Amino acid sequence: MTGEGANLKSLKFLTNFRKESSQFAVIGLGRFGRAVCSSLHQMGYEVLGTDIDEKLVTQALTQKIASHAVQLDSTEPEALKEAGIYEMDTVIVAIGNYLQESIITTLNVKEAGVKYVVAKASSEVHGKLLERVGADKVVFPEYEAGCTLAESLTKPALLDRFELDTDNSIVEVLVPEEFHNRTLAELELRIRYGVSILAVAEDDQFIANPDSHYKLTQGSIMIALGNNKDIQRLPI
Ligand code: ATP
Repeated sequence: MTGEGANLKSLKFLTNFRKESSQFAVIGLGRFGRAVCSSLHQMGYEVLGTDIDEKLVTQALTQKIASHAVQLDSTEPEALKEAGIYEMDTVIVAIGNYLQESIITTLNVKEAGVKYVVAKASSEVHGKLLERVGADKVVFPEYEAGCTLAESLTKPALLDRFELDTDNSIVEVLVPEEFHNRTLAELELRIRYGVSILAVAEDDQFIANPDSHYKLTQGSIMIALGNNKDIQRLPI
């Protein structure tokens, strides 16, 4: 298809892939919010932590899990504005147990134009409501942690996963014994399993887009793209 007249709308998934946000705000400093805060902070990002509970705000500062911390009620748009939340690239709404507060907060930040809002849901209905008010990503941490644990117990060779959407992922997996010393052409992974090998890493060497003659070695790493159900069928 040529450019003119065609509907060339980018999927933007490569941009989303990088999510080069430099400024984050975490609203709600419960266990989940604190974990998000301190991880981002440790990675060197600017993080503003907020909670309605003064004690948690003070704790965040003394424990140095955020660059800044402010006490506020996130259901009040003015309070969010004053704290500079609307200027953040990414806002994480980490209020799981207070449905109304979580929905109003998400609505506030989306209406004010924050580009990327991640919200924690504690039930399926909660998740749907968050999507309705504009959350860009809804997370179910307890559910996801349960799935990840089950996966790591049954598929220890699956080292990492990047979810492209709810059905498709890019995964980092150890090459299984069954694939050892065999070329990509012989293995016919796309036909047999429906996955494409984007890259392989072996002996400190990263080979992007390996050709069909590339021979895999057990224990090296391959980066595969595919549907989650197909990835699950890999003999790893
Ligand atoms: P966990 O501690 O298990 O991670 P959680 O993330 O579901 O639980 P919640 O109990 O939902 O945590 O609460 C998260 C935080 O959100 C609490 O510390 C609470 O004080 C804060 N919070 C609740 N309502 C508001 C609000 N209107 N404005 C700001 N913070 C709020």
